[in-house]
Amino acid sequence: MENWNKRTKLVHGGTRRSQYNEVSEAIFLTQGFVYENAEQAEARFIETGPDEFIYARYGNPTVSMFEQRMALLEGGEDAFATASGMAAVNGALTSLLKAGDHVVSAKALFGSCLYILENILMNFGVEVTFVDGTNLDEWRAAVREDTKVCFFESMSNPTLEVIDIAGVSEIAHSVGATVVVDNVFSTPVNSDAIAQGADVVVYSATKHIDGQGRALGGIVIGTKDYIRGPLEAYMKHTGGSLSPFNAWIMLKGLETIDLRVRAQVESAQKIAEGVDGNPALLRTLYPGLKTHAQNALVQTQLGGKGGTVLSLDIKGGKDAAFKFLNALTIPVISNNLGDAKSIATHPATTTHQRLSDEQKDDLGITPGLVRFSVGLEDADDLLADVLAALVASQA
Ligand SMILES: *Cc1c(COP(=O)(O)O)cnc(C)c1O
Repeated sequence: MENWNKRTKLVHGGTRRSQYNEVSEAIFLTQGFVYENAEQAEARFIETGPDEFIYARYGNPTVSMFEQRMALLEGGEDAFATASGMAAVNGALTSLLKAGDHVVSAKALFGSCLYILENILMNFGVEVTFVDGTNLDEWRAAVREDTKVCFFESMSNPTLEVIDIAGVSEIAHSVGATVVVDNVFSTPVNSDAIAQGADVVVYSATKHIDGQGRALGGIVIGTKDYIRGPLEAYMKHTGGSLSPFNAWIMLKGLETIDLRVRAQVESAQKIAEGVDGNPALLRTLYPGLKTHAQNALVQTQLGGKGGTVLSLDIKGGKDAAFKFLNALTIPVISNNLGDAKSIATHPATTTHQRLSDEQKDDLGITPGLVRFSVGLEDADDLLADVLAALVASQA
């Protein structure tokens, strides 16, 4: 299975069949598992084999299929599925850290990731240094002998900066720190994060893995020692495990994710090129544009794939951005991404509302910025809709 290409792994990886040999992955909607006798129960609590289960918070056959498929896909030794992307980020970080440890993190982060670092970990005595993630000199200056974790989103939300996984990993590893990458915007389809040096890769499965806006989920991928050691212990005792039903949705999502993400990236590239330089725009942020500051890194790290999301900085601030959003006829106004439906978001007043004006300024989250997650609709229809809404934004 390790020799399969990604598309084959996405369809068949990790499949386990019951005594009925079903074709489609079964949903084992059960919390518990029956032991044949007391001795078997005792033995299973001493050591649980790969085809043995105790309780759905610890593991479940459907959840395990999803974990094995994701580990195979990313080239990690093992994976643990979580109830949401945030359960995955929290578990990945908290299971590696204790009071007195030091973390270096990129400052351009999803709001809830920032909350975990600033409001939870720092309150428990972890020291965090924030850096401009795109500047390797800042990482180099920030790491110390007691740095335990370096954390970043490989493509940041919503300004779509791309961070050099190999570059940061080399710096982190020079002081023995573990590299944890939130890889949502890069997508599992275009990621090669572990081969590039990341130790732990985290996804919100809510995004492209489901891809159809139905369920929350997350996954942490890494070495067997880490996943079945501190991470599993943290997750199974604190309760953030994925439900079997949601794991089944994610398995079905993985079967089609390559086709979906390919189409979404192609449309995003077309829309970005179609609006770049539009008189209603101050900036078009899309990593696939040749003018993007990290486009060279997109070529080497992501095989040239700029992702499924673009951000548009509209002239005229919040009023113009709201006019733009309200004029769109195809995309919905919401806050998910990676969905089959195109979704437009105004980060400054929604996902990133909690940040101070100073922080927003520093991160480039301007009042005119709109995040646009490109769906599976016809790209020409979407481009025409966006162009018309840009005209409306300036009226
Ligand atoms: C959505 C998202 C998360 C959180 O995922 P949930 O499934 O909503 O908990 C974390 N990181 C990034 C980059 C995200 O986009």
